[in-house]
Amino acid sequence: MAGTGKAHLSDDGDVLLRVEDLVVEFPVGRTGLVVNAVSGISLDVRTGETLGLVGESGCGKSTTGRAIMQLPRPTSGSVTFEGRQLTTMSTSDMREARTRMQMIFQDPISSLNPRRKVRDIVMEPLNIWKRGTAPERGDVVDRTLEEVGIDPMRAAESQPHQFSGGQCQRISIARSLVLDPSLIICDEPVSALDVSVQAQVLNLLEDLKARHGLTLMFIAHDLAVVKNISDRVAVMYLGKLCEVAPSDELYRIPAHPYTNVLLASIPVPDPSAQPAAVVEVIGEPPSPVLPPAGCRFHPRCSNAQDRCRQEEPQLRSIGPGHFVACHFPVHDGTEAVAVRAPVSSN
Ligand code: SF4
Repeated sequence: MAGTGKAHLSDDGDVLLRVEDLVVEFPVGRTGLVVNAVSGISLDVRTGETLGLVGESGCGKSTTGRAIMQLPRPTSGSVTFEGRQLTTMSTSDMREARTRMQMIFQDPISSLNPRRKVRDIVMEPLNIWKRGTAPERGDVVDRTLEEVGIDPMRAAESQPHQFSGGQCQRISIARSLVLDPSLIICDEPVSALDVSVQAQVLNLLEDLKARHGLTLMFIAHDLAVVKNISDRVAVMYLGKLCEVAPSDELYRIPAHPYTNVLLASIPVPDPSAQPAAVVEVIGEPPSPVLPPAGCRFHPRCSNAQDRCRQEEPQLRSIGPGHFVACHFPVHDGTEAVAVRAPVSSN
């Protein structure tokens, strides 16, 4: 299957993670059909940066995160992390590589073993990999728990259900940190939390990133959340990349019609604010079992023309670090392009 191009990949050598032509398909029973969850995407994450990966539910962003971790291994494509190819690595080497690339999940409570004490949960990775002596492991765990704002004494006596959702996410972060990873993939880490707690956890992630020299991939459906934490943002739609840009640029001059729609859906806390003119989105997302030909967004795009139905757009540069996969972008990097009237969906 055709990809959406690699023009956006960096060639400066300071890349911690590189994904090329990643495909993830899941069989639909015994029908012979497959769910095209991820369809040939390429992206890279530079050392020390935070890459936001956004899109609506079902676009394949979480599947991409799991495929990078080889959970499960992707259908095809390559994933290179710290210079090592993960997709062809043996299972035992892959287990070891995962100590350097950790993942935190959307539901912090269900990601923690409910029967174990919290301190033991955070200690477990160190025990499995036999890092240091028992007292040294204890010191690492207590120090890390304090770093994320959890009292080690309470953690030694309590199980996850005795903590709030925000505290459980802090515990998950502590567990991901104890093995001293270089990359953390955060899969919707604040989506299940109250708004006030979301801000605290985001600030914590930023502090830890600076203190530990981490690189983050931040997966979310909420662009408002991603904006504040990301250096660059990649937008996904139906298993493909639509747009990649520095965070400020993407929010200031979004070029892809779908990015425009996503940004327009962010509520503005000002009753007098005039809504910006944006491309209208039509209908519901198509099935990933039978995705549309050409541009996958064309059945819903009010800018769509014949070319969009026949030719898949490739990612191309429209400005420094700004790439878009669209034949008729809303912004071409220099000036706004007129938004067309909505067309019928049939
Ligand atoms: Fe819309 Fe065409 Fe651009 Fe796809 S390629 S987003 S259908 S204008």
